[in-house]
Amino acid sequence: MSRHRIIVLGGGYTGIVAAGRLARRIREDEASVTLVTGNAVRDERMRWHQLAAGQRYPLLSIADALSGSGVGLTIGRVERIDLAGHAVVLAGGEELRYDSLVVALGSVIDVGPVPGVHEHAHSLTDVASIEAAAQTLAGLADDARVTVIGGGLTGIELATEIAESHPRLRITIASSRVAGHWLSAPARRHLARAFDRLGIDSEVGRVARVDEDAVIMADGRELPSALTFWAGGFRANPLLAAAGLDVDERGRARVDATFRSLSHRDVWVIGDAARVPGPDGVPLKMGCRTGALMALAAPQRIAEELAGATAAPFAGRYFAECISLGRHDALLQWLTPDGRPTDRIVTGRAARFVKEYVHRGNLFVARHPGPYSPVRRAHVPAQAEGRREMIES
Ligand SMILES: Cc1cc2nc3c(=O)[nH]c(=O)nc-3n(C[C@H](O)[C@H](O)[C@H](O)COP(=O)(O)OP(=O)(O)OC[C@H]3O[C@@H](n4cnc5c(N)ncnc54)[C@H](O)[C@@H]3O)c2cc1C
Repeated sequence: MSRHRIIVLGGGYTGIVAAGRLARRIREDEASVTLVTGNAVRDERMRWHQLAAGQRYPLLSIADALSGSGVGLTIGRVERIDLAGHAVVLAGGEELRYDSLVVALGSVIDVGPVPGVHEHAHSLTDVASIEAAAQTLAGLADDARVTVIGGGLTGIELATEIAESHPRLRITIASSRVAGHWLSAPARRHLARAFDRLGIDSEVGRVARVDEDAVIMADGRELPSALTFWAGGFRANPLLAAAGLDVDERGRARVDATFRSLSHRDVWVIGDAARVPGPDGVPLKMGCRTGALMALAAPQRIAEELAGATAAPFAGRYFAECISLGRHDALLQWLTPDGRPTDRIVTGRAARFVKEYVHRGNLFVARHPGPYSPVRRAHVPAQAEGRREMIES
């Protein structure tokens, strides 16, 4: 009997945790789990605003994190997913065959249709380009104006981090709605105080164009900008749509409540790449706060389904979101289960502590996938016999 080959794509926030936990839930003599990812160290996307501001932080070796978990590791850039051929094609042409695929390839910054963004704005898309932007930033003259376009979570974290690390520069955050507009009134007040303290100017309005040295607003205002960052939102990794998975308007694979692709039943998708039904059927938002829950919940469900059982549906809900405001302040916004902000917030060092705990908590689970407790096929109901074949192929 050959072992069922499970490939997990993407060693980021959700993929490492999911791969480790999946391997602990599957009998080693029946199935193998291999994580395929582009870099030997984890991309710390949630810290990329720190990288842009010129900071360094410890990196996680993926091989070390997975050591002892039973997960195989292949470092390589995925060029294409061949769903019909059950293969993942790497840069250089190597093909890796799978029987089941778990996609955790995350998202990319959505550069949108605004003219000049591609040519003149930096975005937090990969380590090399962020490091290049950080160098340019460090070389700017005193009082030079830096503009961050986008008043969402990433734009706020980026603007505050740069303002704190480079107090000699002048930072503007430009966005169509006031930065942090979705937060509660107490949270917005705290944000306004943080912007004041850090000297960040807010410009509200639609950005029409980005030039080499200016941001042009739709109402004609011209904001001088020696360096411009674009933080206008995320899109799922384009490899999913290119493969032919059923995706939504943001490129996220449509999945059911067990993370299984609606169009390809041998594919599971988690994290930013997945459109997962949330409370009242509204899809969960992209983010580590939702991805963390998926990475914990998916492995058991995948193992159960591969063993022929019917997995319980995942009931995703929200708790809180935590926005860093430089190294000394943060904003913890409590949310209702369906994601609306409440008036409960935590700020300052206590919120900073929570933010660090989120980072370190994920590292801890990545390194400690839990005890070896494979889903036992003896528990599989008789009517699922047909699907049991999958794991025996
Ligand atoms: C600056 C910044 C700050 C953020 N802060 C927050 C926050 O405060 N709260 C929050 O909820 N969310 C935050 N996010 C979003 C958060 O980082 C993502 O939601 C989270 O990382 C998604 O996890 P994931 O596993 O789906 O994808 P990722 O963590 O992005 O992992 C995807 C993995 O796939 C790999 N990969 C991608 N393409 C390929 C390829 N072709 N071949 C091989 N490997 C590939 C990548 O290298 C990466 O390892 C932030 C994002 C940014 C950029």
